[in-house]
Amino acid sequence: MRERLAQLTEALHGKADCAIVTDDINRRYLTGMKSSAGYVLVFPEESYLIIDFRYLEKARETAHHCTVVEQQPAVLRQIRELMQQHGAKTAAVESMSLTLERMAGFRKMKDVEFLTDNTLSQALYDLRTVKTPEEITCIRAAQQIAEDALGSLLERLHPGMTEREVALHLDFYMRSHGAEDISFETIALTGAHTSMPHGVPDDREIRQGDLVLMDFGAVVDGYHSDMTRTVCVGTPSEEMREIYHIVRTAQNAALALAAPGVTGEELDACARDIITDAGYGDAFGHALGHGVGMEIHEFPVAGRTRKLPLAPGNVVTIEPGIYLPGKFGVRIEDFVQITENGCDNLTNVPNTLICL
Ligand code: ZN
Ligand code: ZN
Repeated sequence: MRERLAQLTEALHGKADCAIVTDDINRRYLTGMKSSAGYVLVFPEESYLIIDFRYLEKARETAHHCTVVEQQPAVLRQIRELMQQHGAKTAAVESMSLTLERMAGFRKMKDVEFLTDNTLSQALYDLRTVKTPEEITCIRAAQQIAEDALGSLLERLHPGMTEREVALHLDFYMRSHGAEDISFETIALTGAHTSMPHGVPDDREIRQGDLVLMDFGAVVDGYHSDMTRTVCVGTPSEEMREIYHIVRTAQNAALALAAPGVTGEELDACARDIITDAGYGDAFGHALGHGVGMEIHEFPVAGRTRKLPLAPGNVVTIEPGIYLPGKFGVRIEDFVQITENGCDNLTNVPNTLICL
Protein backbone atom coordinates (compact mmCIF):
# COMPACT_ATOMS: atom_id res chain seq x y z
CA MET A 1 0.00 0.00 0.00
CA ARG A 2 2.84 2.37 0.86
CA GLU A 3 4.29 1.72 -2.59
CA ARG A 4 0.95 2.49 -4.27
CA LEU A 5 0.60 5.78 -2.43
CA ALA A 6 4.16 6.74 -3.43
CA GLN A 7 3.52 5.83 -7.08
CA LEU A 8 0.34 7.88 -7.08
CA THR A 9 2.16 10.90 -5.68
CA GLU A 10 4.76 10.45 -8.39
CA ALA A 11 2.08 10.44 -11.09
CA LEU A 12 0.61 13.70 -9.77
CA HIS A 13 3.96 15.44 -9.37
CA GLY A 14 3.89 18.94 -10.86
CA LYS A 15 0.15 18.69 -11.57
CA ALA A 16 -1.54 18.68 -8.17
CA ASP A 17 -0.45 19.02 -4.53
CA CYS A 18 -2.73 16.26 -3.33
CA ALA A 19 -5.38 13.76 -4.40
CA ILE A 20 -8.88 13.36 -3.01
CA VAL A 21 -9.96 9.77 -3.66
CA THR A 22 -13.64 8.96 -3.15
CA ASP A 23 -14.19 5.91 -5.39
CA ASP A 24 -14.94 2.83 -3.23
CA ILE A 25 -12.60 0.53 -5.17
CA ASN A 26 -9.77 3.03 -5.41
CA ARG A 27 -10.05 3.77 -1.69
CA ARG A 28 -9.74 0.08 -0.93
CA TYR A 29 -6.85 -0.27 -3.38
CA LEU A 30 -4.91 2.47 -1.59
CA THR A 31 -5.75 1.59 2.01
CA GLY A 32 -6.90 -2.05 2.11
CA MET A 33 -10.10 -0.88 3.77
CA LYS A 34 -13.44 -1.94 2.29
CA SER A 35 -16.19 0.59 2.92
CA SER A 36 -19.06 2.28 1.12
CA ALA A 37 -18.02 5.79 2.12
CA GLY A 38 -14.95 7.81 3.00
CA TYR A 39 -12.10 9.86 1.56
CA VAL A 40 -8.43 9.16 1.02
CA LEU A 41 -6.35 12.30 1.02
CA VAL A 42 -2.92 11.70 -0.48
CA PHE A 43 -0.06 14.17 0.07
CA PRO A 44 3.56 13.43 -0.83
CA GLU A 45 4.48 13.31 2.89
CA GLU A 46 1.48 11.56 4.32
CA SER A 47 -1.90 10.06 3.49
CA TYR A 48 -5.15 10.14 5.42
CA LEU A 49 -8.19 7.89 5.44
CA ILE A 50 -11.15 9.98 6.55
CA ILE A 51 -13.88 7.53 7.46
CA ASP A 52 -17.07 7.63 9.51
CA PHE A 53 -17.76 6.03 12.87
CA ARG A 54 -19.29 2.84 11.41
CA TYR A 55 -15.97 1.78 9.91
CA LEU A 56 -13.54 3.39 12.32
CA GLU A 57 -12.48 0.36 14.38
CA LYS A 58 -11.92 -1.83 11.33
CA ALA A 59 -10.10 0.98 9.51
CA ARG A 60 -7.64 1.39 12.38
CA GLU A 61 -6.89 -2.35 12.22
CA THR A 62 -6.55 -2.38 8.45
CA ALA A 63 -5.15 0.85 7.04
CA HIS A 64 -1.61 0.87 8.38
CA HIS A 65 0.00 3.10 5.79
CA CYS A 66 -2.14 6.13 6.33
CA THR A 67 -3.44 8.13 9.24
CA VAL A 68 -7.01 7.13 10.03
CA VAL A 69 -9.19 10.12 10.95
CA GLU A 70 -12.82 10.01 12.05
CA GLN A 71 -15.03 11.85 9.61
CA GLN A 72 -16.75 14.90 11.05
CA PRO A 73 -20.11 16.28 9.86
CA ALA A 74 -18.24 19.21 8.29
CA VAL A 75 -15.98 16.96 6.24
CA LEU A 76 -15.11 19.63 3.69
CA ARG A 77 -13.70 21.81 6.45
CA GLN A 78 -11.74 18.79 7.66
CA ILE A 79 -10.27 18.23 4.19
CA ARG A 80 -9.51 21.93 3.85
CA GLU A 81 -7.68 22.01 7.17
CA LEU A 82 -5.52 19.03 6.26
CA MET A 83 -4.71 20.66 2.94
CA GLN A 84 -3.70 23.85 4.74
CA GLN A 85 -1.51 21.89 7.15
CA HIS A 86 0.32 20.42 4.17
CA GLY A 87 0.44 23.68 2.25
CA ALA A 88 -1.61 22.15 -0.58
CA LYS A 89 -3.52 24.42 -2.96
CA THR A 90 -4.48 22.09 -5.83
CA ALA A 91 -6.34 18.81 -5.51
CA ALA A 92 -6.78 16.12 -8.14
CA VAL A 93 -10.18 14.40 -8.21
CA GLU A 94 -11.41 11.27 -10.00
CA SER A 95 -13.00 12.37 -13.26
CA MET A 96 -14.12 8.82 -14.08
CA SER A 97 -16.19 8.22 -10.94
CA LEU A 98 -16.93 11.49 -9.14
CA THR A 99 -20.53 12.66 -9.48
CA LEU A 100 -21.36 16.20 -10.52
CA GLU A 101 -23.12 16.65 -7.20
CA ARG A 102 -20.01 15.68 -5.24
CA MET A 103 -17.89 17.98 -7.38
CA ALA A 104 -20.26 20.88 -6.72
CA GLY A 105 -19.71 20.20 -3.01
CA PHE A 106 -15.94 20.27 -3.40
CA ARG A 107 -16.18 23.57 -5.25
CA LYS A 108 -17.45 25.15 -2.04
CA MET A 109 -13.81 25.05 -0.94
CA LYS A 110 -13.35 28.36 -2.74
CA ASP A 111 -9.60 28.72 -2.44
CA VAL A 112 -8.82 25.19 -3.70
CA GLU A 113 -7.98 24.65 -7.30
CA PHE A 114 -9.12 21.31 -8.74
CA LEU A 115 -7.49 19.12 -11.34
CA THR A 116 -10.58 17.63 -12.97
CA ASP A 117 -9.11 16.01 -16.08
CA ASN A 118 -8.46 12.27 -16.08
CA THR A 119 -4.98 12.49 -14.51
CA LEU A 120 -5.95 10.95 -11.17
CA SER A 121 -8.39 8.32 -12.47
CA GLN A 122 -5.96 7.28 -15.18
CA ALA A 123 -3.05 7.08 -12.74
CA LEU A 124 -5.07 4.82 -10.48
CA TYR A 125 -6.18 2.64 -13.39
CA ASP A 126 -2.60 2.41 -14.64
CA LEU A 127 -1.43 1.26 -11.22
CA ARG A 128 -4.28 -1.22 -10.85
CA THR A 129 -3.65 -2.64 -14.32
CA VAL A 130 -0.23 -3.96 -13.33
CA LYS A 131 -0.76 -6.58 -10.67
CA THR A 132 1.78 -7.38 -7.98
CA PRO A 133 2.52 -10.99 -7.01
CA GLU A 134 0.36 -10.47 -3.89
CA GLU A 135 -2.59 -9.42 -6.03
CA ILE A 136 -2.09 -12.43 -8.30
CA THR A 137 -2.13 -14.68 -5.22
CA CYS A 138 -5.60 -13.34 -4.34
CA ILE A 139 -6.83 -13.79 -7.91
CA ARG A 140 -5.55 -17.38 -7.97
CA ALA A 141 -7.27 -18.09 -4.66
CA ALA A 142 -10.53 -16.71 -6.06
CA GLN A 143 -10.18 -18.83 -9.19
CA GLN A 144 -9.49 -21.95 -7.14
CA ILE A 145 -12.78 -21.49 -5.29
CA ALA A 146 -14.63 -21.03 -8.60
CA GLU A 147 -13.02 -24.16 -10.06
CA ASP A 148 -13.94 -26.18 -6.98
CA ALA A 149 -17.50 -24.88 -7.33
CA LEU A 150 -17.59 -26.07 -10.94
CA GLY A 151 -16.27 -29.49 -9.91
CA SER A 152 -18.95 -29.77 -7.26
CA LEU A 153 -21.65 -28.70 -9.72
CA LEU A 154 -20.60 -31.11 -12.47
CA GLU A 155 -21.07 -34.00 -10.03
CA ARG A 156 -24.77 -33.20 -9.83
CA LEU A 157 -25.68 -31.45 -13.09
CA HIS A 158 -28.66 -33.35 -14.53
CA PRO A 159 -31.71 -32.96 -16.75
CA GLY A 160 -34.52 -31.26 -14.85
CA MET A 161 -32.23 -28.91 -12.94
CA THR A 162 -33.15 -25.27 -13.63
CA GLU A 163 -30.82 -22.46 -14.62
CA ARG A 164 -31.51 -20.76 -11.29
CA GLU A 165 -30.59 -23.94 -9.41
CA VAL A 166 -27.31 -24.17 -11.33
CA ALA A 167 -26.47 -20.54 -10.50
CA LEU A 168 -27.51 -20.99 -6.89
CA HIS A 169 -25.33 -24.07 -6.47
CA LEU A 170 -22.28 -22.25 -7.80
CA ASP A 171 -22.98 -19.17 -5.68
CA PHE A 172 -23.64 -21.13 -2.50
CA TYR A 173 -20.51 -23.21 -2.97
CA MET A 174 -18.31 -20.18 -3.56
CA ARG A 175 -19.76 -18.18 -0.67
CA SER A 176 -19.44 -21.11 1.72
CA HIS A 177 -15.87 -21.93 0.66
CA GLY A 178 -14.12 -18.65 1.38
CA ALA A 179 -15.37 -16.19 -1.23
CA GLU A 180 -16.23 -12.80 0.27
CA ASP A 181 -18.59 -12.32 -2.64
CA ILE A 182 -19.33 -13.62 -6.12
CA SER A 183 -17.65 -11.70 -8.95
CA PHE A 184 -20.94 -10.73 -10.62
CA GLU A 185 -24.41 -12.17 -10.98
CA THR A 186 -23.70 -15.73 -12.08
CA ILE A 187 -24.76 -16.55 -15.62
CA ALA A 188 -26.18 -20.06 -15.99
CA LEU A 189 -28.03 -20.76 -19.22
CA THR A 190 -29.26 -23.85 -20.97
CA GLY A 191 -30.70 -24.92 -24.31
CA ALA A 192 -31.57 -22.07 -26.66
CA HIS A 193 -30.87 -19.53 -23.90
CA THR A 194 -27.13 -20.14 -24.36
CA SER A 195 -27.23 -17.97 -27.49
CA MET A 196 -27.68 -14.89 -25.25
CA PRO A 197 -24.16 -13.94 -24.15
CA HIS A 198 -25.34 -12.29 -20.92
CA GLY A 199 -28.71 -13.96 -20.47
CA VAL A 200 -30.30 -14.04 -17.02
CA PRO A 201 -30.98 -17.46 -15.45
CA ASP A 202 -34.66 -18.38 -15.10
CA ASP A 203 -36.77 -21.48 -14.47
CA ARG A 204 -35.83 -23.21 -17.71
CA GLU A 205 -34.92 -26.83 -17.06
CA ILE A 206 -31.93 -28.62 -18.55
CA ARG A 207 -32.95 -31.26 -21.07
CA GLN A 208 -30.95 -34.24 -22.29
CA GLY A 209 -28.53 -33.12 -25.00
CA ASP A 210 -28.58 -29.44 -23.92
CA LEU A 211 -25.56 -27.25 -23.66
CA VAL A 212 -25.18 -25.46 -20.31
CA LEU A 213 -23.20 -22.21 -20.33
CA MET A 214 -21.88 -20.95 -17.01
CA ASP A 215 -19.99 -17.68 -16.50
CA PHE A 216 -19.03 -16.96 -12.92
CA GLY A 217 -16.33 -16.08 -10.44
CA ALA A 218 -15.41 -15.57 -6.82
CA VAL A 219 -13.94 -12.61 -4.92
CA VAL A 220 -11.08 -13.02 -2.42
CA ASP A 221 -9.69 -10.00 -0.56
CA GLY A 222 -11.31 -7.74 -3.12
CA TYR A 223 -9.93 -9.57 -6.17
CA HIS A 224 -12.17 -11.23 -8.76
CA SER A 225 -11.93 -14.34 -10.89
CA ASP A 226 -13.80 -14.88 -14.16
CA MET A 227 -14.41 -18.13 -16.07
CA THR A 228 -16.94 -19.44 -18.57
CA ARG A 229 -17.46 -23.09 -19.38
CA THR A 230 -20.00 -24.52 -21.79
CA VAL A 231 -20.71 -28.19 -21.09
CA CYS A 232 -23.14 -30.71 -22.53
CA VAL A 233 -25.59 -32.79 -20.52
CA GLY A 234 -25.79 -35.93 -22.61
CA THR A 235 -24.55 -36.19 -26.19
CA PRO A 236 -23.97 -32.99 -28.18
CA SER A 237 -25.13 -32.68 -31.79
CA GLU A 238 -22.60 -32.60 -34.59
CA GLU A 239 -23.18 -28.86 -34.98
CA MET A 240 -22.53 -28.25 -31.28
CA ARG A 241 -19.25 -30.15 -31.50
CA GLU A 242 -18.23 -28.20 -34.58
CA ILE A 243 -19.02 -24.79 -33.05
CA TYR A 244 -17.27 -25.75 -29.83
CA HIS A 245 -14.21 -26.76 -31.80
CA ILE A 246 -14.06 -23.41 -33.61
CA VAL A 247 -14.40 -21.42 -30.39
CA ARG A 248 -11.75 -23.53 -28.69
CA THR A 249 -9.37 -23.18 -31.63
CA ALA A 250 -9.85 -19.39 -31.50
CA GLN A 251 -9.23 -19.36 -27.76
CA ASN A 252 -6.11 -21.51 -28.04
CA ALA A 253 -4.71 -19.17 -30.71
CA ALA A 254 -5.20 -16.11 -28.49
CA LEU A 255 -3.78 -17.93 -25.46
CA ALA A 256 -0.68 -18.71 -27.52
CA LEU A 257 -0.33 -15.10 -28.69
CA ALA A 258 -0.88 -13.29 -25.37
CA ALA A 259 2.43 -11.64 -24.40
CA PRO A 260 3.88 -8.23 -23.58
CA GLY A 261 3.78 -5.85 -26.55
CA VAL A 262 0.78 -7.50 -28.20
CA THR A 263 -2.07 -4.98 -28.40
CA GLY A 264 -5.61 -5.70 -27.28
CA GLU A 265 -6.64 -5.26 -30.89
CA GLU A 266 -4.17 -7.87 -32.15
CA LEU A 267 -5.21 -10.35 -29.50
CA ASP A 268 -8.87 -9.86 -30.40
CA ALA A 269 -8.16 -10.16 -34.12
CA CYS A 270 -6.23 -13.40 -33.76
CA ALA A 271 -9.27 -15.15 -32.28
CA ARG A 272 -11.83 -13.24 -34.33
CA ASP A 273 -10.17 -14.11 -37.64
CA ILE A 274 -10.49 -17.83 -36.92
CA ILE A 275 -14.19 -17.46 -36.12
CA THR A 276 -14.75 -15.23 -39.15
CA ASP A 277 -12.91 -17.62 -41.49
CA ALA A 278 -15.13 -20.43 -40.23
CA GLY A 279 -18.14 -18.34 -41.31
CA TYR A 280 -19.33 -17.18 -37.88
CA GLY A 281 -17.87 -13.66 -37.67
CA ASP A 282 -21.30 -12.09 -37.14
CA ALA A 283 -22.06 -14.53 -34.34
CA PHE A 284 -19.16 -13.24 -32.19
CA GLY A 285 -20.52 -9.82 -31.26
CA HIS A 286 -18.44 -8.88 -28.24
CA ALA A 287 -14.81 -8.12 -27.44
CA LEU A 288 -12.41 -10.99 -26.83
CA GLY A 289 -11.54 -9.98 -23.31
CA HIS A 290 -11.13 -7.51 -20.49
CA GLY A 291 -8.89 -6.88 -17.53
CA VAL A 292 -9.84 -8.40 -14.17
CA GLY A 293 -8.81 -7.29 -10.69
CA MET A 294 -10.59 -5.36 -7.97
CA GLU A 295 -13.34 -4.90 -10.53
CA ILE A 296 -14.66 -7.57 -12.86
CA HIS A 297 -14.18 -5.31 -15.87
CA GLU A 298 -10.96 -3.33 -15.84
CA PHE A 299 -8.23 -2.30 -18.22
CA PRO A 300 -6.71 -3.55 -20.45
CA VAL A 301 -9.47 -4.43 -22.91
CA ALA A 302 -8.79 -6.93 -25.69
CA GLY A 303 -11.08 -5.60 -28.37
CA ARG A 304 -11.16 -3.88 -31.72
CA THR A 305 -9.58 -0.38 -31.63
CA ARG A 306 -7.63 -1.15 -28.44
CA LYS A 307 -4.12 -0.03 -29.35
CA LEU A 308 -2.55 -0.33 -25.91
CA PRO A 309 0.11 -3.05 -25.78
CA LEU A 310 -0.20 -5.62 -23.02
CA ALA A 311 2.42 -5.41 -20.27
CA PRO A 312 3.73 -7.83 -17.65
CA GLY A 313 1.38 -7.93 -14.68
CA ASN A 314 -1.77 -7.37 -16.73
CA VAL A 315 -4.57 -9.85 -16.14
CA VAL A 316 -6.88 -10.29 -19.10
CA THR A 317 -9.66 -12.68 -20.06
CA ILE A 318 -9.75 -14.56 -23.36
CA GLU A 319 -13.36 -15.39 -24.04
CA PRO A 320 -14.38 -15.97 -27.64
CA GLY A 321 -17.92 -17.13 -28.34
CA ILE A 322 -20.31 -18.06 -31.13
CA TYR A 323 -24.01 -17.37 -30.55
CA LEU A 324 -26.67 -18.78 -32.86
CA PRO A 325 -30.04 -17.20 -31.94
CA GLY A 326 -32.82 -19.74 -31.42
CA LYS A 327 -30.33 -22.61 -31.41
CA PHE A 328 -27.46 -22.44 -28.94
CA GLY A 329 -24.27 -20.60 -28.05
CA VAL A 330 -20.79 -21.51 -26.92
CA ARG A 331 -18.37 -19.34 -24.96
CA ILE A 332 -15.12 -20.49 -23.38
CA GLU A 333 -13.39 -18.05 -21.04
CA ASP A 334 -10.00 -18.35 -19.40
CA PHE A 335 -8.00 -15.52 -17.90
CA VAL A 336 -4.26 -15.08 -18.02
CA GLN A 337 -1.52 -13.12 -16.34
CA ILE A 338 0.88 -11.49 -18.80
CA THR A 339 4.47 -12.39 -17.85
CA GLU A 340 7.87 -11.13 -19.08
CA ASN A 341 7.83 -13.41 -22.12
CA GLY A 342 4.31 -14.71 -22.58
CA CYS A 343 1.46 -15.48 -20.25
CA ASP A 344 0.44 -17.75 -17.41
CA ASN A 345 -3.03 -19.18 -17.63
CA LEU A 346 -4.76 -18.59 -14.30
CA THR A 347 -7.52 -21.04 -15.32
CA ASN A 348 -6.76 -24.68 -14.61
CA VAL A 349 -9.93 -26.31 -15.96
CA PRO A 350 -9.27 -27.75 -19.45
CA ASN A 351 -11.07 -26.05 -22.31
CA THR A 352 -12.17 -29.29 -23.94
CA LEU A 353 -15.90 -30.03 -24.27
CA ILE A 354 -17.12 -31.72 -21.10
CA CYS A 355 -20.03 -34.12 -21.72
CA LEU A 356 -21.89 -35.50 -18.72
ZN1 ZN B 1 -16.96 -14.18 -17.45
ZN1 ZN C 1 -15.25 -11.96 -18.67
